[in-house]
Amino acid sequence: MSAPNASGWKPGTPVQDHNAMAGPDTVTGNRALMLEEPLIFEIGTTETTGVDLPEPQSGSNRLGGLDRSEKIGLPGLSEPETIRHYTRLSRQNYAIDLGLFPLGSCTMKHNPRLNEKVARMPGFADVHPLQPVDTVRGALEVVNELAHWLIELTAMHGVAMSPKAGAHGELCGILCIRAALEARGDAREVILVPESAHGTNPATAAFAGYRVEDIPANSDGRVDLEALKARLGPDVAGVMITNPNTCGLFERDMKAISDAVHEAGGFVYCDGANFNAIVGKVRPGDLGVDAMHINLHKTFSTPHGGGGPGSGPVVLSEALSPYGPLPFTARTKDGVVHLVEEENAAEFEHTKAFGRMTAFHGQMGMFTRALAYILSHGADGLRQVAEDAVLNANYILRSLEDVLDAPFGHSGPCMHEALFGDKGFAEDVSTLDLAKALIDEGYHPMTMYFPLVVHGAMLVEPTETESKAALDQFIGALRSVAERAKAGDESLKTAPHYAPRRRLDETLAARKPILAWEEPNPPGGAPSMSEQDGR
Ligand SMILES: *Cc1c(COP(=O)(O)O)cnc(C)c1O
Repeated sequence: MSAPNASGWKPGTPVQDHNAMAGPDTVTGNRALMLEEPLIFEIGTTETTGVDLPEPQSGSNRLGGLDRSEKIGLPGLSEPETIRHYTRLSRQNYAIDLGLFPLGSCTMKHNPRLNEKVARMPGFADVHPLQPVDTVRGALEVVNELAHWLIELTAMHGVAMSPKAGAHGELCGILCIRAALEARGDAREVILVPESAHGTNPATAAFAGYRVEDIPANSDGRVDLEALKARLGPDVAGVMITNPNTCGLFERDMKAISDAVHEAGGFVYCDGANFNAIVGKVRPGDLGVDAMHINLHKTFSTPHGGGGPGSGPVVLSEALSPYGPLPFTARTKDGVVHLVEEENAAEFEHTKAFGRMTAFHGQMGMFTRALAYILSHGADGLRQVAEDAVLNANYILRSLEDVLDAPFGHSGPCMHEALFGDKGFAEDVSTLDLAKALIDEGYHPMTMYFPLVVHGAMLVEPTETESKAALDQFIGALRSVAERAKAGDESLKTAPHYAPRRRLDETLAARKPILAWEEPNPPGGAPSMSEQDGR
């Protein structure tokens, strides 16, 4: 393992630039608290085990011939070895609890600790979906209460709580639209999706069996209303509009779009993943929306990322509510919250459900966190969340538009995220290079190359909880790397320099990922992972 001693440090001279990576080689490969960590297979062996279990008593073998005949091949480690391994790895992660996390579109919100405390209460955390309903009345009450507030905040008629992510919610909404159209014997085949939509929108429509047609954006980065109107007709089932859209702009013509679509007999799906920017300010129901998913994990805190749990309830208009999936909760006159399922759907006059999205009720842990967030913020607090998110994004947009190209800077204030492009970068410097240099500055990069309508796009979403000091520091870092990108600073091409690993061959990593560990140098075998890890 050779140390990246790039600064040419010689013993007896001070370490340059406070750079912890510059300096003499160390025996361990560690750099003080920057700890090298091999793969778990490289530290454990299959010959050892971390647990000490008594030999099983002889008894009858009930595995019916399915018992394992070969070694399982897992590395055996002691408890402290295992804990150290994963703790060391976890310290090489970036996290919202470490610093500003500017991923646009993803809304990496701070998750108040209060939420965690509430979600961990045993009455919520330890319930089982198959428990008798009588033993989970409190949990149902939480689901129903959250449903109530989601309907209230959006001025809609009903809500399907079970979808488990934004994209899952989109599918739920489009299936409601399809069910409503089928119920009136109307076989429409096309869903219109504007250029400025999130990528999941066309994917969802296609998955639900619709033909997807593009609607262009105007020079402001918004849906071209006239082009949309011109395409409407008896074959159009509906439109999917992301609002605020992925250029970080509010679709001001939303009401006109909804009116035109309804007039043509279609339905309006709104991608409400960015509700964070308008919660408490705008009610989608007032804009004629028929279905909209809310990413609880982007608007009402709740941790997400790394494939972790999300939750994407879908609010529905009066026209679509009857088709919403089972199960859902409903309060009867006696004040009791019931779980409405196939067997009691008729009692609740809900026989038109298109089916179900999940085996059970949805993400209980996310529901408790989101409700804790809503109740602790209150109406004024939620409004302030939207206002601060928008203020922070505009502060970033206006602070950097002199060094970074802001393609829609002329379209007025942005919403919760600021969009920049790579215009003005030196010829051989790319958005990727700038993003890698941001890693050296100690930040997770912003969303890159999305939305597609902007060349070399950089989508920056600071979220509402960042202080002015934190924003200023981030702006300083981004300004510095942007200036280097314009000047064609060669060192950008090899960034990151200070991360645990240097730049990977992205193409090789994407096309030929090595996903399985192989024993190092088996006779005539493939090279081990550590020889190919791009160090
Ligand atoms: C995040 C996002 C989605 C998808 O949500 P998931 O929970 O990741 O499935 C859809 N649309 C927009 C605009 C988003 O930002």
